[in-house]
Amino acid sequence: MTLAAAVGGMLLSFTLESGSTARATLSQALILASLAGFVASVALRPARGTEAVGVARGAVSDRARVQCDFSHVAANAEALGSLAELRDYLREPEKYARYGARMPRGVLLYGPPGTGKTLLARALAGEARVPFFALSGSDFVEKYVGVGAGRVRELFKKARKAGKCVIFIDEIDALGKRRDESASDERDQTLNALLSEMSGFHTGDGVIVIAATNRVDALDPALLRPGRFDRQIEVGLPGRAERLSILRLHSQGKPLARDVSLEALAEQTVSFSGASLESLLNEAALLAASRDGECIEQADIQAAFYKTVAGADRAIAATEQERRIIAVHEAGHALVSCVLAPENRLARVSILPAGHGAAGYNLCVPAERVMVGKKHMEHQICVLLAGRAAEQLAFGEDELTAGASSDIARATELAASMVADLGMAGEPAVSLKALNRACGGVSGAAERSRALLDGLYEETLRLIDGERDALQALAGALMERESLEGAETTAIIDAHLSSERRESAQSDLVR
Ligand code: ADP
Ligand code: ZN
Repeated sequence: MTLAAAVGGMLLSFTLESGSTARATLSQALILASLAGFVASVALRPARGTEAVGVARGAVSDRARVQCDFSHVAANAEALGSLAELRDYLREPEKYARYGARMPRGVLLYGPPGTGKTLLARALAGEARVPFFALSGSDFVEKYVGVGAGRVRELFKKARKAGKCVIFIDEIDALGKRRDESASDERDQTLNALLSEMSGFHTGDGVIVIAATNRVDALDPALLRPGRFDRQIEVGLPGRAERLSILRLHSQGKPLARDVSLEALAEQTVSFSGASLESLLNEAALLAASRDGECIEQADIQAAFYKTVAGADRAIAATEQERRIIAVHEAGHALVSCVLAPENRLARVSILPAGHGAAGYNLCVPAERVMVGKKHMEHQICVLLAGRAAEQLAFGEDELTAGASSDIARATELAASMVADLGMAGEPAVSLKALNRACGGVSGAAERSRALLDGLYEETLRLIDGERDALQALAGALMERESLEGAETTAIIDAHLSSERRESAQSDLVR
């Protein structure tokens, strides 16, 4: 898993737009990913919104509507390989029955939203030329006991009538949650109905149930037993090469200017899902169309990129003093990011308000990495705390604003998981969380997280205090220009760094 953009969102108010739009869902994923590359369960927290399949309750798509096959799916080679086998089975179930071969009755696709799970299921039905029945797990869970179970039976009845088919259940976690997590009679009955329906059909029937979830860890183990969803396929976020192939696929039929480089875009879009890549290209196409351009220019792509990750720039409504605070805050993030985590490429720093209530933002394209280490996490915390630290140094402790609220919440969560999950604060061989589960009543995590945060905050204050020139210069430039590209930002910082810092950077290079 990769780390994603640390959008140092500065919230002036808490009135985050509710009603999650596709953009909000996406940036939520981005922001989450920036912290949680190492904690799968956090990174995979379901982000619900417009990405849920647009299938109405009980809606069924018929043969004619499945016009989708494997050529509509880029990347995901592993999943495609596995599904190709199922396609062959769906085409000739009798053959497999003759050999006594047992095909999986259910396949579970798991991974973050927008990675193409629905698309894969649909493509399977299209390839096998069988009807596709789709429903979302949340459609099954009802207030009244028995209603959901009835719906499950109804769905399977319809599907059986159709003969060979693919049944797709999105958000299976909504009905198949671990029973010990939260008990509910209604959900139990619904789950039992699903399990018994699934054991009711035979290998020769040619019915495949595909379920999708963002959180495989939260599923009831009963669902994963043999004869149920016994094949599990991870559908992860695409890597650079996969992003490129998804971009290539979705740019078909879109007139791109000669200077547009999809390779560069693939490089820039760390932690984007297939859905966000598709929406980025669409956004760029809309921009090109609205200005009646001959083709989609690099500038459209850039604007779409910023819009997708940070929301569209909006007009300024802040007072002069507020702008000053925002500029210092964002400059703090950028400065500490450049000094402590230069491997992450700063793409843009802005004091223009963006989506989700952010009054300004830092957009940082993180380096791709497989593992996240302790040092890296500490640096990430410092970068998050840097906005507040810069405000405190520039305006004093009495002038703190609510702008850092989400930064400090994220830093705190990160520190707490270092302490409680990862054994990164003092006891390298102990997971306090697991210990607490096993023995109960284990304490000390809160105190240790506090100490870790306090120490890192001190460090951040010291760093910024020693580089006040760079902070002032950058904040000044932001006040004047409102929005700076990454290269301009690093140039300003480099030009104003203290000689000690420059020397130590030099010696780091030599080493
Ligand atoms: P999920 O079900 O995992 O949330 P979807 O299948 O709904 O994701 O993906 C939404 C859209 O994103 C797809 O319709 C497609 O346009 C695009 N997309 C996602 N992954 C891919 C991929 N691997 N190849 C091509 N398009 C993709
Ligand atoms: Zn911030």
